[in-house]
This record gives sequence, structure tokens and C-alpha cells, in this order.
Amino acid sequence: MRIVFIQPPIEDFYSTPIRLQPIGLAYLSGVLKKHFPEVDVIVKDFQQGWGKRSIPLPDALRFLKDYYRFPDRSPFSTFYHYYRFGASEEQVLKEVGALNPDLIGISMLFTAYAPQALQLARILKKSLNVPILLGGSDVSARANELLALPFVDFVIRGEGERPVVRFVEEWLGKRRFDKVPNLGFKTAHEKLVFNDLQENFAIDELPFPDFAGLNLEHYRLGRRKLSFLISSRGCPYRCAFCSVHQTFGHRLRLRSVENILQEMELRLAAGVRAFDFEDDNLTLDQRRFKTLCKEIIKNYAAYDLKLLAMNGLAYFKLDDQTLELMKDAGFGELNISLVSLNQPVLKQLKRPFNLQKFERVVQTAHALGMSVISYQILGLPGESVDSMLQTLIYLSRLPLRIGVSPFYLTPGMPLEGSLPEHKKPWWVVGRLSSLSATENEARRQRIFTLFVMARMVNFLKELDLSGKSLLLKEILAERNNWQGRDLTGLEILFKLLTEDRFYVFDGNDFRLHPAFDVDLFKKFMEEVKWIKRLDGGTISV
Ligand code: SF4
Repeated sequence: MRIVFIQPPIEDFYSTPIRLQPIGLAYLSGVLKKHFPEVDVIVKDFQQGWGKRSIPLPDALRFLKDYYRFPDRSPFSTFYHYYRFGASEEQVLKEVGALNPDLIGISMLFTAYAPQALQLARILKKSLNVPILLGGSDVSARANELLALPFVDFVIRGEGERPVVRFVEEWLGKRRFDKVPNLGFKTAHEKLVFNDLQENFAIDELPFPDFAGLNLEHYRLGRRKLSFLISSRGCPYRCAFCSVHQTFGHRLRLRSVENILQEMELRLAAGVRAFDFEDDNLTLDQRRFKTLCKEIIKNYAAYDLKLLAMNGLAYFKLDDQTLELMKDAGFGELNISLVSLNQPVLKQLKRPFNLQKFERVVQTAHALGMSVISYQILGLPGESVDSMLQTLIYLSRLPLRIGVSPFYLTPGMPLEGSLPEHKKPWWVVGRLSSLSATENEARRQRIFTLFVMARMVNFLKELDLSGKSLLLKEILAERNNWQGRDLTGLEILFKLLTEDRFYVFDGNDFRLHPAFDVDLFKKFMEEVKWIKRLDGGTISV
């Protein structure tokens, strides 16, 4: 038997290639190879390593043309071209067809990219006539809808390791698919059947992800080989905008430190020098995390590792000692999320909030020399534009870079039931680049403005001023002493402040961008008073 697991291409204005290692499929491959050495399992990544090409904007996203109007070369640019990241349909067909699979498994992690995954399922089914199995977070949320599609034969909800082992066992044996936990299948009369969900294997019993067959050259952090690591699964918190529970549940399951170190040893031997911990909540068990950091410091100091937690850390589960250990272990960056400054909104969303703790974490990490980025969600249901502005002002005054993430809605998210029904398809509202799951264009315009303003603030935070504290008007008066993108950024800010108009730069000319809300920007400038720079200086506004 030969199984081919596919990570499909995606289509969007942007991608984050560093976050695309198909670790879920590698886990499935590892567990199948352990239980069925005779079964041939191949993981194909059709996203990473296939380049990108510009494609026409789908009609359903045309409303974004008002915002992504120009190919902006300024430091404040958002998006413009719409791309396909990964292989073409023909390339996938050719590669997978040549492997002659008995079963094709397709990963569907993000609702926004479901059309590409489903199109592959459709054409592979049509040309190879092979059973198609879907799995991943999107499948966990929409199992019924997806299994009903004529070219889908099986779906797996939740974590996939135990179900896929039982599935292959039945496939090779009596084919009693009703005995396979988490599986959805069709009867001979096309009736959809969904088996009950069951616990996965104990987390320390899972074999390490199997990256054999994947070109590890494609997964790098700069020049270093990068490997994802998942040291725990699940999160007991219930933030209403989060959908991790649909797949991993609320119960935290921790790998032992020994087990994690064994996997790290394996990767180090393969030349990996950077690890990204993709846990949902890496530091929830602080004692275990501290022990892990201490072991990394003790055992791997000679490797000068770069460690990341790009999925973000819960600031409310960090303390001074943890941050010090993180820094010594190789975490140069701290990626946290305040979400919002608005306590009633956060309370409604069941998001933990502790401002004192947040500030302490930011100041300590900054003092340790870590580069801090904190995220704010723009457009949370129930949050006013002024409230979002206050969060942006607050973050502007701290020594960190601001990450802004327009709110997007995904099926099954706890918030979903409390919102009015959206009119756009899931793959449209389920993406950050749609600038919030709202039907209100005035609100979307302000979210776009805040999105751009966060880039302006970061630009000023990072401008090379050698730690000096200056007035913004002094910097702008001297703008012609700067070059390249810095000069462009300062020129745009100067025009904005003197003409009350927002321009972008297309490489030749400054072009007026009417979707930017200048009044909102002016309000920010009146209220922010100063911006804290990353080098310790300030810019007074
Ligand atoms: S703490 Fe993080 S992982 Fe846990 S529910 Fe909240 S957003 Fe999701």
C-alpha cells in the first residue's frame, strides 16, 4: 500500500514561508511507519520550494481593491498582488500520478485556503480515481460539509495519529471503517457516517515527526536549517477568537523534557540549528519549560541555537526567571499578544488580561536584549475603533514592535455563534488579508488605517537614531538627509502631516490613497504624545 500525504499550495496576498513546515503530516508519516513498516508513506509539500506567481484576484476579494490599490514600495506597504504560493495543479497531478498512490491524504489547516486543497482533491480524484482522505483544523470544523463533497471519501476530525493507524489497519484488513475513531466515511448508499472522537496516543508515545522525503533545504531561518517542534498539545484557556480546541482540545498534554531533547538530538545530528516551538501554549507549565531551557543551555550551548516560538507565548505565563532562561537558551525574540487594552471586551472574549504582568514581561525582555513583538487584534466583535486606537497608542509607548492582525472568523470558533451571519464565503472571512470579518465598509476602512498606522509606528521605532530622543518635526525637517525607504517613509509622513493626505509610493511617484482615514491618524498623533523606540530613545510627537 502506498499513501501520499499532500500539503497543498495556497493563494493569498502574502505567505509566511517560515511557518509552513508540514509537521502534522510528518507526525502521521512517523506513526504509520512505526506501525506498518511495509506501508509506503510519502509526504509531499506542494507549497514550499515551488515559488510563487501572481494570479488574478478572485471576484469574491474584489472589494479589497479599494485598499490594496497600488504596488506600494514604501515602508508602510500592505498588499497588492495576489499570488499562488506553491505548485500548479498540473505539477501536482504529474508528481502524485507518478507515485501511483492507493490513498491520498490532503491537509486542510486553514479555511482561507480550502479552495486550493479541494481543487486538488477534485482533480486528483478525477484523474487518478484514488480514495481521498482530508484532515486538519478546517476539516475538524466542517467535517459534514466537506465529506458531503462527491470527490471526498474520508475525513478525520481532531488529532490524526491514532485514527490514521486504525484506518490503515482496517484498510489492510476487514475494512470496518465504523471501527476507526474520529473517521467520517460514506456508506455504500452515500450516507455520511461520523465515528466518535477518541483520545489520541499518549503524547510521549508518538514517534518523532518523519521528515524523510521532504527537502529540508526549504525550511530555513536565514542560513540555518530550521525544524518545527511541538512540545505540548492543547490549551485549557478558552479565548473566544481561538480555534485550536477543535483539533487539540482543552486538555494540556505535555511531552517530557527527555522526549523533547531526544528529538532535538536527532535534528541536531541532521544539521538543524534553529527550532521553532509551535505549541499552542508552550509556557503553561512553567516548571517544565524552565527545565527544558536549562537542559538546552547545559547540553547545546556549543550549537549557538536560535529558538523561536512563532505561534506566540502567553505573557501571563512568563516571569523574569523564565525570560532569563529563554534568553540564555537561544530565544532572541519574544512573540506575545496583548490582543486589546479593552478589559470588558477581553472579558467577554474570555481572554486573560493582566496589564501589570504584560508591562513587566515587555520591560524585562527588552532589558535582556530580546526583540519583543506584541500583537493586537483589529476588529474584534464588539470593540470600537477608538478602543483599538487606544491599544495602538499604548503599544506605541512600549519598547516593542507592534504586530497587528485584523480579526478573521473561522468556522467553529467559539465566537461564531454570537455573531450575525456573514455574507461572504468562509474562505474570504477566514483570512487576515480580508481586513476583518465585517460587512461595514467604514469600519473596514478604519481597520485598514490602523493596519497602516502600526507600520508607521514600527518604522519610527526602528529608524536608526542611535538612541537619541528627538521631536518628530525635527526628524521630518531633516528628512532629506535620509535615503531609500527611510526617505520615502519620512516623506509620506511629512505629506500626511502637512497636507492631510496619505500617499503611497509606487517606485516612481507618490500616489494619493483615499481609503486611509486621515482624521483617525490625526487623533492618534494628538493622543500618543511620544513613541518609544527599540533603541531606548523616544520620538515626541
Ligand atoms: S491562550 Fe492562546 S491557545 Fe489558549 S485559547 Fe487563548 S489564544 Fe488559544
